[in-house]
Amino acid sequence: MFARGNGSASPTIPRCPMIKRSLDDPVQFIKGVGPKRAVLLDRLSLRTVEDCLYFLPRRYEDRSRVRRIAQLTAGEQSTFEGKIVNAGTYAIGRRKKIFEVILQDETGVIRAKWFRFNEKYFREKYRPGLAAIVSGKPAFNRRLGSGLEIVHPDMEIAADEGVDALEIGRVVPVYPTTEGLHPKAIRKIMKHVVDEYAPLMEEILPEDIVRKYHLPPVSEALRFCHFPPEGGDVSALENFRTPEQERLIFEELYLLQLGLAHRKKLAGQAERGNPLRTRGDTVRRFVKLLQFELTGAQKKALAEIMDDLEKERPMNRLLFGDVGSGKTAVALTSLLTAVDNGFQGALMAPTELLAEQHYLNIRPYCEKLGVTLELATSAATQRERKKIQESIQDGTTQIAVGTHALIQRDVQFRNLGLAVIDEQHRFGVLQREAIAKKGFAPHVLVMTATPIPRSLALTLYGDMDVSVLDELPPGRKPIATQLFHENRREEAYDLLRREIAGGGQAYVVCPLIEESEALDMKTVIEIRKYLQEELFPGRRVGLIHGKMKKEERQQIMSRFKAGEIDILTATTVIEVGIDVPNATVMIVEHAERFGLSQLHQLRGRVGRGGELSHCLLMAYHPLSEEARARLNAMLKTGDGFAIAEEDLAIRGPGDFMGTRQSGLPSLRIANLARDIKIIEKARKEAFDTIDQDPCLDRPAHRGLKRAFQKYFGDRIKLMDVI
Ligand code: ADP
Ligand code: MG
Repeated sequence: MFARGNGSASPTIPRCPMIKRSLDDPVQFIKGVGPKRAVLLDRLSLRTVEDCLYFLPRRYEDRSRVRRIAQLTAGEQSTFEGKIVNAGTYAIGRRKKIFEVILQDETGVIRAKWFRFNEKYFREKYRPGLAAIVSGKPAFNRRLGSGLEIVHPDMEIAADEGVDALEIGRVVPVYPTTEGLHPKAIRKIMKHVVDEYAPLMEEILPEDIVRKYHLPPVSEALRFCHFPPEGGDVSALENFRTPEQERLIFEELYLLQLGLAHRKKLAGQAERGNPLRTRGDTVRRFVKLLQFELTGAQKKALAEIMDDLEKERPMNRLLFGDVGSGKTAVALTSLLTAVDNGFQGALMAPTELLAEQHYLNIRPYCEKLGVTLELATSAATQRERKKIQESIQDGTTQIAVGTHALIQRDVQFRNLGLAVIDEQHRFGVLQREAIAKKGFAPHVLVMTATPIPRSLALTLYGDMDVSVLDELPPGRKPIATQLFHENRREEAYDLLRREIAGGGQAYVVCPLIEESEALDMKTVIEIRKYLQEELFPGRRVGLIHGKMKKEERQQIMSRFKAGEIDILTATTVIEVGIDVPNATVMIVEHAERFGLSQLHQLRGRVGRGGELSHCLLMAYHPLSEEARARLNAMLKTGDGFAIAEEDLAIRGPGDFMGTRQSGLPSLRIANLARDIKIIEKARKEAFDTIDQDPCLDRPAHRGLKRAFQKYFGDRIKLMDVI
């Protein structure tokens, strides 16, 4: 039979070709995007239309208020109207050319300048006599001494048909961009995307949450964030505090926390672990061996850990503690608990040097306790390595210390009961999982010396339980920190000399090992030579860096520890974990080159005994604004958590340690430094959601489930939770 009078198209051959739009459309489908631009967009990680929709402006420029020229102030982004009184090029030097336009209104004159321009086009467009609308940041030109100028402004001719409505007379979105893609071009592309695709966005947030927080619909929120309507609160917008922006931030953080909540739920009913009997014989003997009383914080953390170890479900706990708070004693007590129960323990560190130090530190205890200890690093020879592996495999080794070599495939434990991972920020989430997968569902304790802001802890470690060592062992004095510039080197060395004369020891830390042509930096080898030969001929100046052989390194460290070396010149290999209480002074060469948390870690190498210690930061010009901020933070506080907050504020969340290698999706909209309140809300709601519907199987969560899977991809899979 033939269908008659049926006007609709057959399912296979549409009568009139119609393209069905989808959020998964590749960017080429967008008006104004061809293959060339698609490549540029790809560089910004924009592959589909949906990527573009969630590609929000980094900031906004208020070009809605038009000012008079006399009202303009240097450094303040503004929009004004003026008449072109003169336009043309002039040369500076032999090769450079500048295009300059002089603008005027009843109140004053200003010059606009371009260093990059298409002369023909500019001459055509900016003719004297025409009125222009200009947006940009005026600045003083000292050399000219003639008032304000404005470099590379956005300039449109007022009489032109439809002055670009996206550019002028409104709050303009500013997107991150890439070379070859003009900001204006991105705005145009985004306008098409928003107009044509935003309405396709599906609501994924559960209805009760939308209602509870009065969240605007997602398509409206997106439209608003890309092209804010007139008359809004610009300052709220700039601070990402409009309800529309907060809605999108909430959505992203909610998704992220759903993943963490799901993982934690899974872990909570994971394979059976090994419940351990705590406070056994070896542990008791160990506590007696310690020459100090554990701090309240150490006792509390240990109580929490012991509680976990007694349970059938494997522990997954994070131990936070500032540098020097005494994490090693906590770790060793936990490892010995495993030993008391006939299990093996593993202690992993991010660097060989640190693994070696752990090994040397705990060896005396293990010897006295009759516990077998092995150091397994990749530096060992083939034969040694094989022997160590065998002893780990047959259970002869009770505690194995090493780097991540310990979790490589060829190392098999007979019965691993507890894995302690020190200085977690160097390990990715995936490595953490690798050790947990070593067979027997071991308990896992992760320790980090880099205190991280709460917001980051709630995301990076959102699926773990947390203990905090918020107390330093008694008698520690704050480390006197001073900043020296190159011209005051002598003073710094005088201080060092006095400390050594008084029986102390010193570190001198440098950024590089060998001469680097590109960077004119004092190198560790050069500095050592200089210190030994010129400044301290009567003293023993040592050298340690990452390219040395293990044996040599160990030897240097033990000699330093034994007081046989007065001044240790070092690279950042000593950044973490090194513990020499008699070292009372540290000079950091090129302190401006180090990151803030790195400086804090380095500083933590001194001040470990009862003496007042000094950290002398040597800085070289020119100092970037960020470097200055980092150094100031070091002078201002010694508190690791305060440092961490500063660090997050200075660097922004993008490259804050660990976020990128954490194994979690990177954040597109939310900002960990800015959005802590929203994180907490989103976290609570996400954990509630997973509590009620662990795999998001309810019909009401269908869209949410899809969004979850898309967001995490292979990183976190929704798995059955019973
Ligand atoms: P971190 O937390 O940086 O790893 P460590 O475990 O290396 O700190 O401890 C730093 C120093 O403090 C070590 O010399 C250690 O012996 C000492 N220490 C640890 N706990 C105490 C305590 N309760 N009382 C006194 N000293 C302690
Ligand atoms: Mg340590």
